Amino acid sequence: MPAKLDKTLWQENTEGLCPTCLLKIPARLYRDNDQIWLETVCPQHGINRALLASDAEQYLRLRHFTAPRLSGSCYCGPEENSSSCTPPVCVLLLEITNACNLRCPTCYADASGHDFMPIEEAKRRLDAFFLQQSKLDVLMLSGGEPTIHPRFIEILDLALSYPIEQVLINTNGLRIAQSDSLCEALHIRKKRIELYFSFSGFRLETHLHLYGKDLRVEKERAMQRAMEAKIFTNLVVTLERGMNDDEAGELLRYAFSKDHIAGIILQPAMSSGRYEHSYQPETRLTLTDTLHLLEEQSEGILRVSDFAALPCSHPDCCALTYGVLRADRSGFVPLTRHLDIGRYLELFADRISFAGLMGAALKRVWNDMTHMRGRQTLSDMASLFAEAGVRDLIPLIGKPEEAGKRLFRVVVKPFMDAHTFDWQRAEQCCTKILDENGKSVSFCEYNVLHRSRKSRANLQQLRVLS
Ligand code: SF4
Ligand code: SF4
Repeated sequence: MPAKLDKTLWQENTEGLCPTCLLKIPARLYRDNDQIWLETVCPQHGINRALLASDAEQYLRLRHFTAPRLSGSCYCGPEENSSSCTPPVCVLLLEITNACNLRCPTCYADASGHDFMPIEEAKRRLDAFFLQQSKLDVLMLSGGEPTIHPRFIEILDLALSYPIEQVLINTNGLRIAQSDSLCEALHIRKKRIELYFSFSGFRLETHLHLYGKDLRVEKERAMQRAMEAKIFTNLVVTLERGMNDDEAGELLRYAFSKDHIAGIILQPAMSSGRYEHSYQPETRLTLTDTLHLLEEQSEGILRVSDFAALPCSHPDCCALTYGVLRADRSGFVPLTRHLDIGRYLELFADRISFAGLMGAALKRVWNDMTHMRGRQTLSDMASLFAEAGVRDLIPLIGKPEEAGKRLFRVVVKPFMDAHTFDWQRAEQCCTKILDENGKSVSFCEYNVLHRSRKSRANLQQLRVLS
């Protein structure tokens, strides 16, 4: 029998980066008391230690949701390239401009340009992508601020002409607050679009720190207009230790209170791109910190144990829970609390979208029934129906808008920067950006290596010219 793993001595070897010169070097993840650290030693610039988790037990629990890639099987789904165990792209970003109507002190894209992607270029890149993959869960139109692109709606329509389940618009909301015609155009297309709306807190200091100005009125106005236009919206929160980490519970309650908010995505702050504040990799806010904040500040609505990792990507990349809201949105029951998630891992693989999750669930029940394994599955589903409020959704079948108001997702997404970079995560990445060659590249890899190399090269060129 293999010796039992001593979790107090847990460690794993991988490859990382030197945060100074970006050299690819060996890295070690290891447990030190209750914490998990990533350590690299650059021959030229020395040691780099970055905190990966403040709660080692929860970090290791989330690792149970990993697909057993080494054994040759994975949860990528049979349609795509599962034999190679490279997950299909689940979320694809297309950056259609590097211009923005804000200049946030914390911007992973370092947006400050004036370029708008020609529609022909957007088509060329999407065509190249769909030669590699037949369909896509989520395309995110991003920037800069995509809604200031003069041909934004044409690009949106182009995107909607591909086999893409949902198009997310990554926005700061300013144009939505200002433009009637934009809101009307989005309303007409509301069935297949959602907003990915940056909304990180209610306090003046939070706004000044993250956006560089007080946008409380504009953000609220944009939220109101999205609700009037019936556009499903995701709150995207950048969370920073000591800045707005005490606002997580209020943000969650705010999201529950609005009919059109479909979920909340919390992203611990990282130092990629433009980050004008001081960044401390050794005391940074981590994924497990964020889970604890949600438990502490949600008055028992959420527990750390409600969250699972997304098994199609690396377990350090995402923790999420799905659930059903009461009709008046006053309560929320995470499905994961009433289901042994370990038995249904594939349901969560490649399933950022709820429609994908439900489709996979039905497929799984059908499959188990036809293979005579249905008893346990049926009993699990019955418990979901009885205790997790799924029964209340039955009258809403065929009414996606009404059903959408009752389903909610909470996602914690810790992107990597040069301090926390782990090449294993980049290799298993399912959130990619479509680059200038039509190639999809891990979003973190692109931010840390490609963008920064470009800006370093530009800087060097400027130095040479001056
Ligand atoms: S974070 Fe978003 S809104 Fe802010 S400058 Fe960057 S692209 Fe613009
Ligand atoms: S590597 Fe980065 S972008 Fe890719 S899944 Fe992990 S956190 Fe997300």
